[in-house]
Amino acid sequence: MNADYLKKLKQDHFKITPKRRAILDLFDREDKCLTPETIWEHLKKTFKQSGLPGIYRNLELFVKQGILIRIDREGRKRYYALCHDHSGHHHHHIVCVECGRVDDFPVCHFPDIKSTKGYKILSHSMQINGICKSCQ
Ligand SMILES: [Zn+2]
Ligand SMILES: [Zn+2]
Ligand SMILES: [Zn+2]
Repeated sequence: MNADYLKKLKQDHFKITPKRRAILDLFDREDKCLTPETIWEHLKKTFKQSGLPGIYRNLELFVKQGILIRIDREGRKRYYALCHDHSGHHHHHIVCVECGRVDDFPVCHFPDIKSTKGYKILSHSMQINGICKSCQ
């Protein structure tokens, strides 16, 4: 597994169970966004005791840790992907609509405004969709 994640998880006193490690390894191997169902398909042979709800729970925990991000794609399924940038810098993500590959997108052109329409702005999120090099 990527040493970066391990370091980050240890810093946050996050327990790295075999199942959590297997989830992250799968994301590393597949190198694209995955649904909880797909992850469950891969893991259920090894982790017979755990069900899909456990997978959901762990995925949401990883999102809180900033290791995984939620990805919007067509359809009603939920997707998750690895975020490779753990520097804490504000960035966005670009998703290949063909293969589901996800990369960090360091450029942000959102204007640096602090308030609008009576709102005090706290944060923003944006997903960029495209077609990756190998799918073009
Ligand atoms: Zn990222
Ligand atoms: Zn692609
Ligand atoms: Zn931004």
